[in-house]
Amino acid sequence: MVADAIHRLPIPTPFAVGRVNCYLIEDDPLTLLDTGPNSGKALDELEQALAALGHRVEDLERIVISHQHIDHLGLVDILARRSGAEVCALDLLAPVMEDFGGSAERDDGLAQALMRRHGIPDEVVTALRAVSAAYRGWGASRHVDRPLADGSRLLFRDRTLEVLHRPGHSPSDTVFWDEERGVLLAADHLIAHISSNPLISRPLGGRSGDPASPERPRALVMYLESLRLTRKMPATLVLPGHGEPITDHAALIDERFALHERRAGKIGRLIAEAPRSAYEIAQALWGNVAVTQAYLTLSEVLGHVDLLLERGVVREAEADGLVRFEAVA
Ligand SMILES: [Zn+2]
Repeated sequence: MVADAIHRLPIPTPFAVGRVNCYLIEDDPLTLLDTGPNSGKALDELEQALAALGHRVEDLERIVISHQHIDHLGLVDILARRSGAEVCALDLLAPVMEDFGGSAERDDGLAQALMRRHGIPDEVVTALRAVSAAYRGWGASRHVDRPLADGSRLLFRDRTLEVLHRPGHSPSDTVFWDEERGVLLAADHLIAHISSNPLISRPLGGRSGDPASPERPRALVMYLESLRLTRKMPATLVLPGHGEPITDHAALIDERFALHERRAGKIGRLIAEAPRSAYEIAQALWGNVAVTQAYLTLSEVLGHVDLLLERGVVREAEADGLVRFEAVA
């Protein structure tokens, strides 16, 4: 048990991140936060973990989803069918969950357009699209029975969780706050051993997210804003989506602020040397990883460039559909 009647169930994933933490809240209703990916191995281990606590999948009464990533929601449909549990998720996430494949396809469309616009070669873009399509099988679509508004409350017999939208790592990141106990269920919003990468995704709520428009999603800017809100919370325990519980979230968030500031400084110096595309910046920073993890590293670079754009120290110059960033004299 990691907190009052909360159990951490680390479920295997086929991804580099390793295991994902699902949390069983032994309260009324019996609730599972996040499900693990849609794989036989994840389902087996989840069943064993539940059995070790004296429960079966069929006993689940409520399933809450923290955000749109497949390692967190892949089993939702199977578990909800077997248990009849009520599925709850942020209202903005509900349409994504209801058409998971279509939504992933549209995300890939945005990713492709962004990669081309920022200098990533066509063959890399095509290869990544195939990888992404292959990953989709670990996800699932599911109707959300109870869409949760930001600021609303999930009631249990022995506790109340406040629902808080904290976008950045993904646009749908939701954290659940037990004010009485000072416990924050944070999923991937804050992780101790890795800095949560703010991956650029389509904005929720029907906005286009066109990469060429001023509406281009600014994932890192959004993420830092979310972290500022979380830093102010009087949490004594943060339960993350991967790895160990966090007992000093303010110090950890300060480390993250320092990391992003250093990285923005480094990227600012590269741009001051010579105008560069985001892809060229990623290669200068990470070498071949900029090819194998092209979208991840592009999201990193663009996130930090967004900070520099906000401060007015760099600007975007486009020629023939290719963007280079240059220093403002
Ligand atoms: Zn995630």
